[in-house]
Amino acid sequence: MRRAFIAGNWKMYKTPTEAKAFARELRSALADVKDRDILVGVSFVNIAGVVEELKGSQIWVAAQNMYYEKEGAFTGEVSPVQLKDAGVTHVILGHSERRHIFGETDEMINKKVRAALDHGLLPILCVGELLEEREKGETEKVCKHQVVEAYKGLSREEALKVTIAYEPVWAIGTGKTATPEDANQVHAFIRKVLAELYDQDVAEKTCIQYGGSVKPENIDALMAQEHIDGALVGGASLKLDSFVRIVRFQ
Ligand code: PEP
Repeated sequence: MRRAFIAGNWKMYKTPTEAKAFARELRSALADVKDRDILVGVSFVNIAGVVEELKGSQIWVAAQNMYYEKEGAFTGEVSPVQLKDAGVTHVILGHSERRHIFGETDEMINKKVRAALDHGLLPILCVGELLEEREKGETEKVCKHQVVEAYKGLSREEALKVTIAYEPVWAIGTGKTATPEDANQVHAFIRKVLAELYDQDVAEKTCIQYGGSVKPENIDALMAQEHIDGALVGGASLKLDSFVRIVRFQ
């Protein structure tokens, strides 16, 4: 009943010229794929060109971050209102690189989720544990905390607009993937947290993507799991053949 949702996160790769050309290729390579949702998350400077290239296609464009204020003296930041006007539909929030390199806190992420929804953007909320947390058996505790904090103050209707990406930090960009069964267990646990916060319906309707070294070789096994509804793909989304194969998972 949940629609598959494959998202590419281009991180800080591709110039505006390269991003436009890649978006054009992607559009034509995926033109016939209509039974699943597809998105690319691009750098701020690439938004205009990529939105233009993908206009009228079924591929959505996301920003990879934003600030939570509507406007103001926040030099270097980008607001939800600016993003909306630029044509993005989604925004990736709480990515582990934002949390761990740029020091984003759960409180900031909650404000960003709130602001995205207030301005008509759909959040893709990233959660996931560090290696040492996994080794201490704290995966569930960490994921629960991140979900509970990020959803603070959201109504049931707002909660239904959020996609969660479970991304174990030790699997991002490392070539190590959680086994499909391990990932599925965490996804099922996150669904339980949503049922506690809201109800079973929200838990069952929420799309939960897996992220962390997803590639053509492991996407089919991941997507075969009951609670894995999609993928947030970093490195492998930068190459046409690999991203197309991931989107076309079987
Ligand atoms: C990501 O950027 O969210 C990610 C999961 O990266 P990678 O697929 O390269 O591990």
